[in-house]
Amino acid sequence: MLKFATRVQSLKSSSIMEISAKAQELKAQGFDVISLAAGEPDFNTPEPIQKAATQAMAEGITRYTPAPGFLALREVIAEMVTRENGYEVSPDEVTIVSGAKHGIYLALQCLVEPGEAILVPTPAWVSYSPMVELTGAHIIPLPLFEEDGFRPNVDRWKGLAIPPNAKGIIINSPNNPTGVVYTKEDLTRLVSWAIQRNLWILSDEIYEKILYDGAKHTSVSALGPEAKNCTVTVSGFSKSYSMTGWRLGWTIAPKEFSKKLGALQSQSNSHTTSFVQWAAITAAKLPPTILQSMVSEFDTRRQYCMKRLDGLSDYLTYTRPTGAFYFFINMSKFLVPRKMSDVEFAKTLLEKEYLGVVPGSSFGKENCMRISYATSLKNLETAFNRLETFLKTH
Ligand code: PMP
Ligand code: GLU
Repeated sequence: MLKFATRVQSLKSSSIMEISAKAQELKAQGFDVISLAAGEPDFNTPEPIQKAATQAMAEGITRYTPAPGFLALREVIAEMVTRENGYEVSPDEVTIVSGAKHGIYLALQCLVEPGEAILVPTPAWVSYSPMVELTGAHIIPLPLFEEDGFRPNVDRWKGLAIPPNAKGIIINSPNNPTGVVYTKEDLTRLVSWAIQRNLWILSDEIYEKILYDGAKHTSVSALGPEAKNCTVTVSGFSKSYSMTGWRLGWTIAPKEFSKKLGALQSQSNSHTTSFVQWAAITAAKLPPTILQSMVSEFDTRRQYCMKRLDGLSDYLTYTRPTGAFYFFINMSKFLVPRKMSDVEFAKTLLEKEYLGVVPGSSFGKENCMRISYATSLKNLETAFNRLETFLKTH
């Protein structure tokens, strides 16, 4: 009889992936499902990247690579970040990992002791808490408020008792699920607050290149050497170059930390797929026009969603996103009078209208829902028609 180890006993699959799988299942059964659940660009990966991968395979780049990744790739990532993000990075601070998610997992395994507490501004992406729990630690949510536009406001946390076993904080801007981009001032205050409390920082910057309305991305490590020394940055091409299925990301951390992270990788998945790494060199060198055209298409969809959401203001409120491709929508006006939970709402919406969304409680905030607009305008139009029908008839 197989018995689960304690560390995985309460582990569940990613709720987003489960909802997406359920939507796929209904689709396969012939139902006309539209899923706004998973945040995944609907474009194919740009052709030069595809070509680079097939060429790499043909040329025999099909064998084991160094555990931290090919030096040639770590060099181009270091150059790109130094040029674009405003802080100096050397190749030995870069580790190529199998997606940003895997980078976060490895970093937490290297950082966290059992029994510790990790602070997470919340609402927050669904996978941080389970990954922290796998280390034997737990998270303490730091509330973000809709009235503050879901931007971090350290004054709000004055009354919170931060226990002495709190060792780190996870920061995510541009943010999933809110789409909010923290300003440089927001981040400076948040990072000083963290440094004063002697916390390490895990900065998840996976949406750094998906920005609208002139919003600017600030990297935590660009705030100065003190910030850089206590930060592990995670990013990748999954979102910006439509490479979600390729499983490639990177971490940037001080050299000694990166060495340990590479050692952990060498003892687990060994490294990221060889020809995927090779193609990523091409991705890092692509002209900005390719990215700009995808972001501009997302922006058109974002504008469309805002128009439709504004038309439903009797039922919901939302915070205008300036990054990533999500809307985090407060459904209290609709849900509270009907005594309906956000989970029940999302379940019924899928069953009755064949529309997939993620309930806010998956991100630690009830009475809300997250939708992704990384899908065609046609799908968005149908999705909003279905949502409107549901709200007006229930
Ligand atoms: N961080 C956040 C906030 C995300 O939304 C995601 C989802 N893709 C990831 C990390 C993981 O990205 P990747 O696909 O590169 O593993
Ligand atoms: N990160 C994406 C999302 O939030 C994909 C799902 C996942 O990686 O868990 O929808």
